[in-house]
Amino acid sequence: MTRALSAEDALAHAHRLLDKLPLVDGHNDLPFVIRRDREAKGDVRRYDLSRAHQRTDTDIPRLKAGRLSAQIWAAFIPSKTPQPARAVLELIDTIHQLHEAYPDVFMRALSAADIGKAKRQGKIASFLAIEGGVGLENSLSPLRVWHAAGARLMTLCHNETLDWVDSATDKPRHNGLTEFGKAVVGELNRLGMMVDLAHVSPDVMRQALDISKAPIVFSHSNARALADHPRNVPDDVLDRIPANGGIVMATFVPDFISRRSYEWMMPFKDSFGKTRGDVDMTKALPEREQQLGRWPRGTLEQLCDHVDYLLKRIGIDHIGIGSDFYGGPTPEGLEDVSRFPHLLAALIRRGYTDTAIAKIASRNFVRVFRAVEGVGKDLRKTEPPRVGRLEDFDGIELVAPS
Ligand SMILES: [Zn+2]
Repeated sequence: MTRALSAEDALAHAHRLLDKLPLVDGHNDLPFVIRRDREAKGDVRRYDLSRAHQRTDTDIPRLKAGRLSAQIWAAFIPSKTPQPARAVLELIDTIHQLHEAYPDVFMRALSAADIGKAKRQGKIASFLAIEGGVGLENSLSPLRVWHAAGARLMTLCHNETLDWVDSATDKPRHNGLTEFGKAVVGELNRLGMMVDLAHVSPDVMRQALDISKAPIVFSHSNARALADHPRNVPDDVLDRIPANGGIVMATFVPDFISRRSYEWMMPFKDSFGKTRGDVDMTKALPEREQQLGRWPRGTLEQLCDHVDYLLKRIGIDHIGIGSDFYGGPTPEGLEDVSRFPHLLAALIRRGYTDTAIAKIASRNFVRVFRAVEGVGKDLRKTEPPRVGRLEDFDGIELVAPS
């Protein structure tokens, strides 16, 4: 493409591509939004996803406008949730309710092949992911139960360090993964589930790349060189991704897009970069905007800068999209799930070819997913399931959480 397209023409072109091209989003926390909703409390029908939810970012009308054809839904719970194993089961149930309540919209999806299948049926392939290994309660058995319930991806931890894995946004306690943590990665490989390194510390990223027999994913992370936030991927880790075959799915979280946003938010963050538990952001944010003017919440174009950077650093075959919509603040131009075509249009205007767009939209993710499935199939022929609890792998001396 030699001449710059107008925004309108680029958007029309993006929509034409999306007539055939599946579009995958790597991370959306809607199940938690439905759980947290005071009326719905995890009941999908009571939440009524068929109507517009103006105060949040995800509903069926806008998913359709956004042309999405595959969504990885996160069964996310905060690390400090009481009885985390039960809470994860409740989130899994909420995701199952989505397919059951809206069978014309969502197709329960379990394999890479389901992405194309859903597209052909005009539905959204609806995948289940577990965000945060806290729900294992330090046992390997839930991994297999989650897999049987449809989980195909697991984000090892969330914002807090667990007994076996260091978080990017907490004090490291293990220099990465413990032996139990390594067993979790091994068992995910064996099950054919994607190992998601969003949220883990750089040491865990490096160790997982050392031991994983399958390509890894970052389901919602950006480049640390452009926005220095602990949740983003440092260059030395990025440089190892082409050899691993994995994928970095660029994310819309304002602080991960823009260092200015992160710095503006600093008073509400702890020293590790995560929002402090004692801050009520619904009050704190308007107050700060009154003092300082509008929050520089990052833009769609700045997100495209991350994609450009990833392209230069690791190549077109290792980039995807992982919005991380969670019903909270969003960057300018990426306000809700209807905006995905605008992101593709912005990349088209930057000169990304149709093939490049296809890779970012879904082809790379499908390749990774297929590879993970293949590795799992092979490993299950030779490796028995890993059975046991943390104490069987790491000894009984647990470090008490600080
Ligand atoms: Zn997350």
